[in-house]
Amino acid sequence: MNYLEAIGQPKPLGIYVHIPFCRSKCAYCDFNSFVPTGKEVMTEYVSALIAHMESYKTVVSDGYAPDTVFIGGGTPTALPPEELFRLVRAIKRIFSLPKDAEFTVEANPATVSYSTLARLRRMGVNRLSMGLQSAHENELKALGRIHTRQDFARSFRMARDARYDNINVDLMFGIPGQTMDSLLHSLNYLTRYMPDHISLYDLKIEPGTKFYENYREIRPLLPGEDAEADMYLAAIDFLRERGYVQYEISNFCHPGHGCLHNLKYWNCDEYLGFGVSAHSYFNGQRFSFTPELDRYVQGVTVKDSRVKITAECEEIGERERIGEYVMLRLRLCDGIDEREFAHRFGYSFEALYGDKCRKFVRLGYMTVQGGVTALTPAGMFVSNAILSDILEFEDLGRYQFS
Ligand code: SF4
Repeated sequence: MNYLEAIGQPKPLGIYVHIPFCRSKCAYCDFNSFVPTGKEVMTEYVSALIAHMESYKTVVSDGYAPDTVFIGGGTPTALPPEELFRLVRAIKRIFSLPKDAEFTVEANPATVSYSTLARLRRMGVNRLSMGLQSAHENELKALGRIHTRQDFARSFRMARDARYDNINVDLMFGIPGQTMDSLLHSLNYLTRYMPDHISLYDLKIEPGTKFYENYREIRPLLPGEDAEADMYLAAIDFLRERGYVQYEISNFCHPGHGCLHNLKYWNCDEYLGFGVSAHSYFNGQRFSFTPELDRYVQGVTVKDSRVKITAECEEIGERERIGEYVMLRLRLCDGIDEREFAHRFGYSFEALYGDKCRKFVRLGYMTVQGGVTALTPAGMFVSNAILSDILEFEDLGRYQFS
């Protein structure tokens, strides 16, 4: 029992809603997203989402107080505007959101209008997340994005006009054909707009994507691992000089604009996800819903007990909870505080992981200061491999440390 339960206070909760629709499929994308066959499919899906959230209303109101919402995808703004408004209204009603709840909607620069943004803002949406990815048309084309740099400029200005004072913009490095100069140019272009938050992602070629299918042709165009490491470190310096604070491996913000919803994931706090492929961590369980749209809609709306919508579900035991905490907290620049760790789990972090961490301190990938263990920028670039080693995953990938 945590202290909020002990004093009878409702616990904070994040709400994630997945919209799997996009205007077209980007070449690198392995998210559960696809081009819908028509408006009816989207209307049906929104109705299913609302019915699904309704079914959680009682269990949520009995002990939880949702305080962050994130509608992501896919492309939420690919929904017909009336459907998006219907969804936002339902979320506010079902979960009795307080006025100051952080409410984010992802928006594609090619699929937003001023009237939609302004209406969402009036309804309580107070944070937007847009994907610029690159300020170069050739790189956007290589990624298969449907927006242009002009679309971004127009959407960003519209969002500011509609009184959004908390805007995230996604940028990528490791794009085919990208160089250090072109990345720095993209960063320079983006920071002139002064977004409140920037997410900087390393492009990965994942199975099931067009890039994966065409890997032979794409490979010679990729910057390569060493160049990508240099790009990442240069981007961190660039953003720091422009007043952005890095608070997570891929996330930078102006002070006071960290994403409260995503921080719930990295802090192992509870959240409920609705929609196809959505994941949840709720009441001591991690679970996810089916990636199949028809099954999800049928299972939620027809309420046929033979249609199972839960894809995976596991109770999180102590060992898993500790492993997840280490894996997620080390993504944050704040790292792991030994006292907080001992308070949370009753074990010494040093006793469990001290030896492993010392190896990475020697290699320059970690620091231990004042009882806080954190990754350095160089360590963040190879964080997956470091975490595999510390947590003894089987696959160490390309990196081996000795
Ligand atoms: S817009 Fe986003 S979710 Fe949609 S295909 Fe492109 S990367 Fe994937």
